[in-house]
Amino acid sequence: MTKYSIFSLIRNAGSYHENWQRAWRSPDPQPEYEVIIVGGGGHGLATAYYLAKECGIRNVAVIEKGWLGGGNTGRNTTIVRSNYLWDESAAIYEHSMKLWEGLSQELNFNVMFSQRGLLHLAHNVHDMQEIGRRGHAIWLNGIDSEFLTPEQVQEMVTLMNINGRYPVMGALFQPRGGTARHDAVAWGYARAADALGVDIIQNCEVTGFDIQNGVVKGIRTTRGDIKAKRVGVVTAGHSSVMAEMAGFRMPLESLPLQAMVSEPIKPCIDTVIMSNAVHVYVSQSDKGELVVGAGTDAYISYAQRGGFDVMEHIMGPLVELFPFTSRLRMLRQWGGIVDVTVDRSPILSKTPVENLYFNCGWGTGGFKCTPASGHVFAHSIANGDMHPIAAPFSIDRFNSGALIDEAAAAAVAH
Ligand SMILES: Cc1cc2nc3c(=O)[nH]c(=O)nc-3n(C[C@H](O)[C@H](O)[C@H](O)COP(=O)(O)OP(=O)(O)OC[C@H]3O[C@@H](n4cnc5c(N)ncnc54)[C@H](O)[C@@H]3O)c2cc1C
Repeated sequence: MTKYSIFSLIRNAGSYHENWQRAWRSPDPQPEYEVIIVGGGGHGLATAYYLAKECGIRNVAVIEKGWLGGGNTGRNTTIVRSNYLWDESAAIYEHSMKLWEGLSQELNFNVMFSQRGLLHLAHNVHDMQEIGRRGHAIWLNGIDSEFLTPEQVQEMVTLMNINGRYPVMGALFQPRGGTARHDAVAWGYARAADALGVDIIQNCEVTGFDIQNGVVKGIRTTRGDIKAKRVGVVTAGHSSVMAEMAGFRMPLESLPLQAMVSEPIKPCIDTVIMSNAVHVYVSQSDKGELVVGAGTDAYISYAQRGGFDVMEHIMGPLVELFPFTSRLRMLRQWGGIVDVTVDRSPILSKTPVENLYFNCGWGTGGFKCTPASGHVFAHSIANGDMHPIAAPFSIDRFNSGALIDEAAAAAVAH
């Protein structure tokens, strides 16, 4: 694999950039693999990469029904943070943050990770109590966060109206939070996994599992049956569909979540702004577009577009907080299908079928955990036992009651 560098850029400029190598191969499926990963989103590709890189298992295939990153990975608002309340969440999201910090170098692919900081606004007494509780918990877990006064928020984001209908009473700021380029993350992991021998197979839908005496022996696909010793399912909004194929139920609901971008404008917001109370999330992309996120639709659906009521619901608060946006045109709007658990925490788990593992339930906020999710899931599949960081996220918690209730922490979104 050609190393991407300033020298390869100059070399290829000489031939008008017509001779770049393909970033990954497009192989036909082999009859059998050591490990099959179902789902070619960021989490599935990261799992395959770490299996090959750190666990010494290179006989791996990633099976994707559409194109790489065409699911939630390529549809999200790219917010990265690790300021979660509970210790179990702090452990996995901070593990991810540390992996993000060296990811472009590790993958030799610019994932455009930008630690521009993340402001979590508080608009009322409840919000202030919530950020107070979470801020202190975060410190105890050694994660960076600062309380800001309204004046400090105003100084940081001069265009924000902090005295309007949604007054800003304070904010929790994570300086190491920020954004990354979503599809570059999928492509970077894909290219690096391919270079280690992983077969990435697109346009191949998994339609069932070969299960004998409670043990998974392979998968059924639109391109034929493929045998495997172990199978990891990483299919986000379609995880409960996959579970049904394997004969059990997943405690998940699939909901549309939407986002939109404005026309490009000059740089005006150089941090990420989140407001859970009014459900608006804003950052500015490198192209200049304002990237605006919202809450989920209120109903279950597999349609990859969101409802008009949610759009209306975010536009009001957006204009209240940033009056200049009333003159902006929105360019694009889209939706993804997010897999939501009752405690708003993910599921990384063994299943009732031996050698079949599920990684799902990331809901509205899994992009930021792509590196850690892949990392700990790969180690779990390779060792046949869940990695210590992944272990609390077992499916068993829905029976035992040991929920990791990030919903109660009001840190549910993005
Ligand atoms: C609008 C929106 C905004 C968001 N904003 C943020 C944010 O700001 N920050 C954040 O951290 N998270 C955010 N998220 C959540 C985040 O996008 C997801 O949690 C994360 O990307 C999930 O990654 P994944 O690889 O598990 O899933 P996906 O990228 O969805 O990949 C799953 C793949 O499985 C494939 N698949 C499904 N069924 C089959 C089958 N039968 N056979 C083969 N392949 C199959 C799909 O085609 C898909 O490519 C947002 C999500 C949305 C929709």
